[in-house]
Amino acid sequence: MHLHRFHGGLDLPGHKAESTAGGLRRVAPPPRLYLSLLQHAGLPAEACVGVGEAVARGQCIARVEAGAGADLHAPLAGRVVAIQTRALPGPSGLAVPHIVLDTQADGPTQAMPPLGDPAPVNAIRARIRDAGIVGLGGAGFPTAGKLAVTRATLVINGAECEPWIACDDALLREHADEVVRGARLMARVAGAGRILLAIEDSMREALAACSEAVAAHGNEEVTLVAVPTRYPEGGERQLIQVLTGQEVPRGGLPRDIGVVVQNVATARAAWRAVALGEALFERVVTVTGPGVARPGNFFVPLGTPVGYLVEQAGGYTPLAQRLMLGGPMMGIALPHDDFAIGKTHNCVLVLGDAELRASDDEMPCIRCGDCATVCPSRLLPQQLLWQARAGRLDEARDQGLFDCIECGCCDLACPSHIPLTEQFRRAKGELLAREADAVLAEAARQRFEARRERLEREAAEREARLAARKSAASPAGVAAALERARARRVAGTDPDAGA
Ligand code: SF4
Ligand code: SF4
Repeated sequence: MHLHRFHGGLDLPGHKAESTAGGLRRVAPPPRLYLSLLQHAGLPAEACVGVGEAVARGQCIARVEAGAGADLHAPLAGRVVAIQTRALPGPSGLAVPHIVLDTQADGPTQAMPPLGDPAPVNAIRARIRDAGIVGLGGAGFPTAGKLAVTRATLVINGAECEPWIACDDALLREHADEVVRGARLMARVAGAGRILLAIEDSMREALAACSEAVAAHGNEEVTLVAVPTRYPEGGERQLIQVLTGQEVPRGGLPRDIGVVVQNVATARAAWRAVALGEALFERVVTVTGPGVARPGNFFVPLGTPVGYLVEQAGGYTPLAQRLMLGGPMMGIALPHDDFAIGKTHNCVLVLGDAELRASDDEMPCIRCGDCATVCPSRLLPQQLLWQARAGRLDEARDQGLFDCIECGCCDLACPSHIPLTEQFRRAKGELLAREADAVLAEAARQRFEARRERLEREAAEREARLAARKSAASPAGVAAALERARARRVAGTDPDAGA
């Protein structure tokens, strides 16, 4: 298959072998889980269990009744001991309700009935929704919604390009067959005529496992593609360009060019939901870095505290300097390890001194243009920086701020050590908050207008009724009322006539 190149990007050391050597492991069940009601793009789910209630493993504990979102299921059996507000990791510091679950070893399990094979497309889509499946590559979009419109091509994204993160690599080595089965199901739902399973050429063991699985299911249906290892190839837009040569239009979506992209772990989750009736309540997480004693890839129940997960990987080493959720390029620095793992969290990384660049050595921009050379979104980061720092956010938006995928390439290329990505993240956050405020203000304005109109209408109706009563009490009105009563008697419809 002929492959293409995307603009910019970087060749980075992978650091994958540090965590993949020991194979996939499973953490011991944590005694307490903290399950955020917002583990997806969209609105928070609403708890459908109460404090004190016992729940089974796999039971739905929070639902999204309307709009975009995803249901949440108990990863382990146990008892709800609190529903409390906790901050989500990340610069927004958004605080959302969490269900706190004290777990119980060997408690009951609840699964949905497996669907037959082949199941109707609508039933598969409904099952993917009911199982709470979202994009596990990081974006967290509800999968059923993303598959709702017909696309020509389904891309299964196994191009795990960010250094240190190896959860997809580890999953593919041991569960390639389930990924391929899930891909075929998803293609049926999306009406896709071809499936491209893309894996980076450095993931040799994963490629071998996928090659075997694809051969077992018929090569003509799924095309396995080894793509060159280059960061950020796993970005949706970059991968589509490499595979098809097509560019997703600025401000557009892959669906605009007939493509839908799903992560390999999402495909596996879809298959398990359909074939086994299993909801999404755990995921594979890479725990790695020089600050971790025994790096590895683990099946982790959602809601597991980060600190507990690091303990399961042997604890912190004396080298530990910075804790991150995600990789070194796109991840977020955590101030402590009391945050809980959610559906979109693929890596816990503990860096040492050697991996950290001094943060206080920023120098002025020298207009070298290196940031633009590496930007995979073809932006001009130095201009965006200037607009963002001057508070000219609308201009920054016009220059493509929202096409920035926050890959961090510009940071790494900048000889002046300017933290560009951080500025872009903050600027986007401000714009989104402003838009959210504007939406809320507009909703409040509409409510005010509706209330004012209702009050005016009610006042007008009251006046009309009063005027009618006055008119009925006038001599002419009395004569008219007598005439109406006489007419009713003649017609025999006067209820008092026979009294
Ligand atoms: S972080 Fe944004 S601006 Fe910087 S290189 Fe990546 S996409 Fe371009
Ligand atoms: S790489 Fe850094 S110094 Fe060079 S133009 Fe971009 S922001 Fe300025």
